[in-house]
Amino acid sequence: MNNVEVAPRSRNDLAKLAYEIRNILGLNDQLYVDVLHLVENILPNVFDDYCFEVCDKREMGNNHGLTINHTIKIRDDVYDGAANYVGRDRLTVIHEFGHLIMHSDAPKAFARGRVITYKDPEWQATAFAGEFLIPRHLVKNMSPDEVAIKCGVSFEAANYQLMKIKR
Ligand SMILES: [Zn+2]
Repeated sequence: MNNVEVAPRSRNDLAKLAYEIRNILGLNDQLYVDVLHLVENILPNVFDDYCFEVCDKREMGNNHGLTINHTIKIRDDVYDGAANYVGRDRLTVIHEFGHLIMHSDAPKAFARGRVITYKDPEWQATAFAGEFLIPRHLVKNMSPDEVAIKCGVSFEAANYQLMKIKR
C-alpha cells in the first residue's frame, strides 16, 4: 500500500488495541500465541466473510502476506516458517491480522508526498504485530533472549520491543 494513509495511531494506541484484542480472545495471560490457529480457526468465527489462503510465489511475488478486504493471504514458505516457529514469519501473520482489524474497513486516502509514520498502514500493522506478540504487561524485566524464546519472535524484534517499552 504505497502512499496510502489511514487515520493516525500512535504506538500507545496500538499497544492498547493489541491488549484489548488479546483480552477478547482470552490470550492476555499467554506469552506465546499460536498465530496460525488464530488466523485459520478463530477468525472464521469472528468475521462472516473472512477467508484465509496460502498462496505460492507465482501469485504472491515478493509479498510475504497480503490482506484484501477480509481475506488474508500468506505465501507458502512464510506459512511453513510460521508453522515451524520462525519469529519473522509469525510476525508477518500478525502484521496481516493487524491490517484485517485496522484497515480492511477503514477509509483510506492517497498521501501527497511522503506518508507520515503514524498514518502509514504498514507501520501501524508492524507496530501492532510487535505489541500483540510481545505484550508489554507480560515481558517487563525479561531479557531479549527470554522474550524471543517465550514469545516466539526474533531476537531483533524482542530487543526492539523492549527498547520501546522502556521509553
Ligand atoms: Zn502490510
